[in-house]
Amino acid sequence: MQEDRFSNITILYVEDEPAIREGLQRFFQRRSGTIYLGANGQEGLELFEKHKPDIVVTDIRMPVMDGLAMSRRIKEISPSTPVVITTGHNDEEFLLKAIDVGVDKYIKKPVDFRELMKVILHLSSAVHYKKQLEEQNKFFRELMDLNPNFLATIEGTQCTYINDSFLSFLKCTGLEDFSLRYGSLDKAFVDKDDSFYAGKKITDWIATAADDRQTSRIVVMRPDTSVDDDESTFILTVRHVPGKNEYLLSFADVTHLEMEKQLYMILSLQDPLTKVYNRKKFFDEIEKEVERVNRYGQKLSLIMMDADYFKNINDIFGHSVGDKVLIQLTELIRKGIRKTDILARYGGEEFAVLMPGTDAEGAFEIADRLRNSIASYEFPICKEVTCSFGVAEFAETDTIDSFVQKADIALYEAKSKGRNNAQMFEGGSFRCSM
Ligand code: GH3
Ligand code: MG
Ligand code: MG
Repeated sequence: MQEDRFSNITILYVEDEPAIREGLQRFFQRRSGTIYLGANGQEGLELFEKHKPDIVVTDIRMPVMDGLAMSRRIKEISPSTPVVITTGHNDEEFLLKAIDVGVDKYIKKPVDFRELMKVILHLSSAVHYKKQLEEQNKFFRELMDLNPNFLATIEGTQCTYINDSFLSFLKCTGLEDFSLRYGSLDKAFVDKDDSFYAGKKITDWIATAADDRQTSRIVVMRPDTSVDDDESTFILTVRHVPGKNEYLLSFADVTHLEMEKQLYMILSLQDPLTKVYNRKKFFDEIEKEVERVNRYGQKLSLIMMDADYFKNINDIFGHSVGDKVLIQLTELIRKGIRKTDILARYGGEEFAVLMPGTDAEGAFEIADRLRNSIASYEFPICKEVTCSFGVAEFAETDTIDSFVQKADIALYEAKSKGRNNAQMFEGGSFRCSM
C-alpha cells in the first residue's frame, strides 16, 4: 500500500556527497518512485524548474549554491511544494534561517532512509491530495468550458472565473482581459424597462437572486466593446457557493425563443392581410385608453368605417382585387391619421380608428378628410371605392360597449343616408358631413 504511494511521487534530492545521494537513489527506486538527483543548489534549482517534482529533499552545505538559498527560490516559485532539509550536527546556525525560508521538515544526518521515507510518505499524502484536487479541478474546468451556457463565478463585484463560451461572447481573451475592459460583469448588461437589475448594484441583486430559486430572471447582454452588436437574451440562474461570499452564475441563451415569443405575440394581435391591429388588440387598446380617460379626463373619440357595396367589388373583380382594395384602404387611412391614433381591422371590410386626445369635432374632421381621400383615390382595376363613417366621442357615462355602439349607430346612419358620408353621434341626433 505504502509502496504504491511512491509510484505517484516524484522527488528532487540535492546532496553534494555522491555516496549518500546514490544510496537514497537506490533505496527510492526500489520502491518504484521517480527521483532526480542534484549535486548542489544550482543544479537542484534547474532540475526543479525542469521537472516540477512533488517533494524536495536537500542538504544544507553545498558548493555553488547552498540548500537554504535553493529552498528559498523554490518556495518563491512554488510555495506549496514541501521541502525537507537534512541537517548535520553543526548545522544549528542554519535552523532559524530554515524556519524563515518555510522549510517543512528536518532530518538529522546521517540520514536514516527509513525515517526519511516515513517523512516523505507523510508529506506525500498532502501532495497526493493536492494532485487529486488539481485533476478534479481541471476536469470540472473542462466541463465548464465545454458548456454552451455562459458560466461565471463572482466574488463581490469581481469575477473569479468565466468559461470559454462566455469569454468569446464578451470578446475577451481571458479573465485578466475581461477585468481590464469590463471591470464588472454588469457592464455587459443592457437595461430594459422591466429588467430586475436596472439601476441596482450587482452586489445588491445577486444575493436576492440566489435566495429565490423559483423566479427565472431574464438578462439582456451585449458585448461592451461594440455597441453595434446585437443584444442577446438569457435566463440567469444564481447559486451561492457554500461557505464563501462567492456566487455561481449560469446564463442560458434564449434569444431565439424570445424572438419567437415576440413574433407570435405580434402575430396574435395583427390582422394577417392588412397588418394593422386585429379586433382583439383593438379592444385591448380601447380598454387602456378608456382607463386613461377615466383617470385623467382626456378626450377620446372613435371612427368606425365600412367600405360601401364591397360585395360588388368582389363579385365583379374577384376576391383578390377585393383583398388589394382592403390593403390600399389601410394605407390611405394610415396616411390620414396621427401616429398616436390606433387603427384596427374591426371586421371584413370594416375598420376602427381610436383617437386619444381628440374630441368629436376633431375626429369628425379627420373622418371626412379620410372619406374624401378614399373617394377621390383611383384604385387599380376597380377604380372607385367609397366608405361610410360613424364618429363618436367617449362620454363620462359611457362604457366601452356603449362607446363603440354610438360610433356604430352613426355608421349605420351614414349607410342609410346613401353611403360615402360621415356621421357624428350627438345624443339622439346626428351631424352629417355631406
Ligand atoms: P354595405 O355598403 O352595406 O357595407 O355593403 P357591402 O357589400 O360592403 O356589405 P356586405 O356586408 O353585404 O358585404 C361585405 C363583403 O365584404 C362580403 C365579404 O365577402 C367581403 N369581405 C369581407 N372580408 C373580406 C376580405 O378579407 N377580402 C375580400 N376580398 N372580401 C371580404
Ligand atoms: Mg360594407
Ligand atoms: Mg360590412
